[in-house]
Amino acid sequence: RFITLEGIDGAGKSSHVQFIADQVRERGVHVIDTREPGGTRVGEDVRKIVLHEPMGVRAEAYLMFGARSEHVTKVIEPALAAGEWVICDRFIDSTYAYQCGGHGLPRATFDALVKALEPAPVPDATFLFDVDPALAAERQQGQQRTPDRFEREKTDFFRRVRGAYLERARDEPARIRVIDASGSFEQVRARLEAALAPVLA
Ligand code: C5P
Repeated sequence: RFITLEGIDGAGKSSHVQFIADQVRERGVHVIDTREPGGTRVGEDVRKIVLHEPMGVRAEAYLMFGARSEHVTKVIEPALAAGEWVICDRFIDSTYAYQCGGHGLPRATFDALVKALEPAPVPDATFLFDVDPALAAERQQGQQRTPDRFEREKTDFFRRVRGAYLERARDEPARIRVIDASGSFEQVRARLEAALAPVLA
């Protein structure tokens, strides 16, 4: 099975990847964990470029999908074909949320890129760690203070990203399970555990 984790920066999703992998492993199933952008050497190189070189949203989306093509054909598909489970930190929903929702990539361009990737695996379950961007920013800074202008702009960006994620979750309720990622780590972990149970059954 193919499980993906999604959420805005500071939602805390990455801290739960190992937990999910361990839960799967306990059932005697082989599992790999991977991430996007990343997951292959090309993918990790693309990650560095996308995160550090300023570029237009189209270039960003094309690079993400180029790396994703490598990731799907070299890592994800072979593992699934071998009967392993794959836990992936971010996948196609991230491109929808960040590039379409956050940066205004046209929906038609996104749809064309998804089509060009086909046949691509559709996650059996996606856990969307949902949190208010102001709280996520506070978590990342580890302190509570009045945000400056740049932080407010960032918060507006993440509001759009969050909105796009939630819209997608409304469109695909069977696949995307929204996890309230506010509260303590333990509370979020407990919510994840409850949401994960039917997927492991
Ligand atoms: O989840 P992770 O922290 O590994 O993501 C790395 C960064 O890549 C994040 O800051 C996120 O904002 C960015 N990103 C992006 N577009 C994507 C996926 C990730 O801008 N499609």
